Amino acid sequence: MTDKSNCIFCQIVSGALPSKKVLETDRVFAFRDISPQVKDHILIVPKKHVADLTEVSSQDGPVFQDIFESVQLIVKKLSLDANGFRTVFNTGEHGCQTVFHLHLHLLGGAQMGGSMVG
Ligand code: 5GP
Ligand code: ZN
Repeated sequence: MTDKSNCIFCQIVSGALPSKKVLETDRVFAFRDISPQVKDHILIVPKKHVADLTEVSSQDGPVFQDIFESVQLIVKKLSLDANGFRTVFNTGEHGCQTVFHLHLHLLGGAQMGGSMVG
C-alpha cells in the first residue's frame, strides 16, 4: 500500500524528485505529467498526502478550494480557457488510478475525444 514514505507525488511536492512545476499554492502543487496524453497535461495534487477521493474529509474543503482555483489560474496561464479543457480524477482499479496520491488531471491544448471511458 502506498503511504507518504514511498509516494512519488509526495516526493515531487517536497522537491526530492524533479518535476516541471506549473503552479504552487500553500496547499497544492501543479506540474506537468511525465507522459502527457495531450499537449497540455497537468496534474494538480494536494501537498498533504491523501490517497484518493474516498479518503477526503470535510476538513479538506480548503484543499479543494485551492485545487479549483488552480485550475482557473492554470487555464488562463496556458491560454486553455478560450477553447476548453477536461478535468479528471481517477479512483481505484476501475478508475485506472496508478498513483495513489489524489490528483486532478487537467488536459487541454487539443480537441478531446468524445468518449469518457474508452
Ligand atoms: P493516474 O493513472 O493515477 O490517474 O495518473 C497518474 C499519472 O501520473 C499518469 O498520467 C502518469 O503519467 C503520471 N506520472 C507517474 N509518475 C510520474 C512522475 O514521476 N512524474 C510525473 N510528472 N508524472 C508522473
Ligand atoms: Zn503522497
